[in-house]
Amino acid sequence: MSIKENLIVIKKTFSNTECLLVAVSKTKPIEDLKEAYDAGVRDFGENKVQELTDKYPQMPEDTRWHMIGHLQRNKVKYIAPFVHLIHGVDSFKLLKEINKQAKKAERTIDCLIQIHIAKEESKFGFDEKELDEMLSSEEINTLQNIKVIGLMGMATFTEKEEIIRNEFKGLKSLFDKLNTNKLPANFDLKEISMGMSGDYLIAQEEGSTMVRIGSAIFGGRS
Ligand SMILES: *Cc1c(COP(=O)(O)O)cnc(C)c1O
Repeated sequence: MSIKENLIVIKKTFSNTECLLVAVSKTKPIEDLKEAYDAGVRDFGENKVQELTDKYPQMPEDTRWHMIGHLQRNKVKYIAPFVHLIHGVDSFKLLKEINKQAKKAERTIDCLIQIHIAKEESKFGFDEKELDEMLSSEEINTLQNIKVIGLMGMATFTEKEEIIRNEFKGLKSLFDKLNTNKLPANFDLKEISMGMSGDYLIAQEEGSTMVRIGSAIFGGRS
């Protein structure tokens, strides 16, 4: 099936039509992104800064670029002028660097805080203690060039649906809990980025507002 056909099939399965589809185009050639663009996609996700900065000038201006992977602090400056949303903010230090580079670029950058929801050691993200520490710090209130608009999480890589579902449930309940508290002025939690090709339907059932789908649209990556 073509990219366009894949997109139609995927959209049909959405239980929440309001949920944003971020087309994860990492490793894929620009022709594939253009095909998705022509089929109506405006939101593209990349996980490498180099690839993102290479592709950015080759796509129409109204393309929205999502940085979805682990972001190194020393590379924030390359994407700060144009990135639409940074999904994987996994440390306070990184958030501060994003604020610094956003200020230099004279803009505000929207961010999602990545929460460590998976069993695996290898997945990045805050645990609840680290999140509490950041939220109760004085310094968080001084970051005027970032806006934290939600949370992001990646489930354990497993066939066991119950494990995945419980991890997504955990992220949603953390989101709800945070929203009952008084948060810093630069927080406005509306989005939950969870769900990929293999688990986006479960994620939508558990309250996802953004799914990051790659291989189901563009085919497998080598
Ligand atoms: C690659 C990637 C995805 C998309 O994965 P698929 O299984 O191809 O849909 C989603 N989120 C992140 C953070 C990724 O790195």
